[in-house]
Amino acid sequence: CGVFGVNGVTDAANFVALGLHALQHRGQEAGGIVSYHPEHGFNSARRFGYVRDNFTRASLMETLPGELAIGHVRYSTAGSKGAAIRDVQPFFGEFSMGGAAIAHNGNITNADALRRELIERGSIFQSSSDSECIIHLMARSLQRDIPARMEDALRRVEGAFSVVAMTRTKLIGVRDPLGVRPLVLGKLADDGYVLSSETCALDIIGAEFVREIEPGEMVVISGGKVESRRPFRAQASKFCIFEHVYFSRPDSIIGGRSVYETRRQIGVELAREAPVEADLVCPVPDSGTPAAIGFAHESGIPYGMGIIRNQYMGRTFIEPTEQIRNMGVRLKLNVNRALIRGKRVILVDDSVVRGTTSRKIKEMILDAGAAEVHFRIASPPTAWPCFYGVDTPQREKLLAATMSEEEMREHLGVDSLKFISLDGLYRAVGASEEGRNNKCPQYCDACFSGEYPVEPADMIEKGFKL
Ligand code: 5GP
Ligand code: SF4
Ligand code: MG
Repeated sequence: CGVFGVNGVTDAANFVALGLHALQHRGQEAGGIVSYHPEHGFNSARRFGYVRDNFTRASLMETLPGELAIGHVRYSTAGSKGAAIRDVQPFFGEFSMGGAAIAHNGNITNADALRRELIERGSIFQSSSDSECIIHLMARSLQRDIPARMEDALRRVEGAFSVVAMTRTKLIGVRDPLGVRPLVLGKLADDGYVLSSETCALDIIGAEFVREIEPGEMVVISGGKVESRRPFRAQASKFCIFEHVYFSRPDSIIGGRSVYETRRQIGVELAREAPVEADLVCPVPDSGTPAAIGFAHESGIPYGMGIIRNQYMGRTFIEPTEQIRNMGVRLKLNVNRALIRGKRVILVDDSVVRGTTSRKIKEMILDAGAAEVHFRIASPPTAWPCFYGVDTPQREKLLAATMSEEEMREHLGVDSLKFISLDGLYRAVGASEEGRNNKCPQYCDACFSGEYPVEPADMIEKGFKL
């Protein structure tokens, strides 16, 4: 998901709509905005579909007045798949000291247990979303102001959370102690401040990047001042390494590093680790593009656009049902036959999850007359599900959970298949020259290593085996 918030500007909701548009790659199912105006109070709009189709209509935006607003774009991981407007954020709660709205990116790993406990004690849940727990925990806190109630609430929550929240006067941002999901602070002219999942959404509104919210930090922003708090016990950070590989936009900056440059470097590492003789390096667009550029550069093999992407399709993985995902590949990608014919082709993609994409693409490339197909993957084999906010399927559906690399190669029907090593990936993201620190990994890489930095309590209760 993507979260965004602005204060200190007239028509804050318009800024939020633009920010969410720039974060649309983080969630395409639905979006929502809440604003506050001293005369008109809190207002909200939650809609299915793209930001640009909903939040550009003047009639809708006029219902969201005020100098303070937050928003969310949704990609369903927890909660019901698909359609239920009640699951669309931001969520709103009315407390004795006033209202508050929250938007959450990440996944709460003890949400089932918390929900059970809260329902037993009288909470009435409105949605099936894990994020709603935060509002109910806030309602039960005895603290006298809303930021302090949020601190109370979030201390009970486990897992990944980057939260953007607002009261009548304050814009609030929090990252979980491990800092699994991103969150950055930006500044507008005068007293305006911005919170955003990624820096690419600061650019769109002309905000200046100030800094990242640190893992375990809470910022409370009002009247042009940013107050920093530390609600949690300090821990070693575990940023999601897959944000670098796939999730974030390549024009964003993470940890002082360009995501594009990191992905290009992954391609360089891959070319060193798994060279192969071929005539052409092709990305599987868009997510494989920077890595393919790096691979071509390092190997000296020409780069070409052997697969053309229809720009009017969203991310296929993010369509929740299997059937749509299957069709999705052809709706979205087509082979550039004239370029491919007779060539030995290296295809570079970011990841293999179920193998659906890779299989379809291999068929299309062979149909177009390629002589050989070699897959090079910009992440290690995805052998474990993510419980921190990326929607990987159950373990059984992950190709790498049940097959060796050679079996995967056979299953996909390609001439060769190689994944970047974990150490290679760590080098590419700039963690260290040696790669992964196996005693205390610098990132979360659970979907590759099976080492979960936060025990996925709900899933273990449901029978998941570490
Ligand atoms: P598959 O078709 O193997 O199930 O999925 C791999 C494709 O899904 C890749 O092309 C990758 O770009 C895309 N993808 C989209 N979202 C995700 C995600 O959340 N996780 C992973 N691993 N891949 C994703
Ligand atoms: Fe990111 Fe993978 Fe960790 Fe999930 S399990 S947070 S996708 S590195
Ligand atoms: Mg892809």
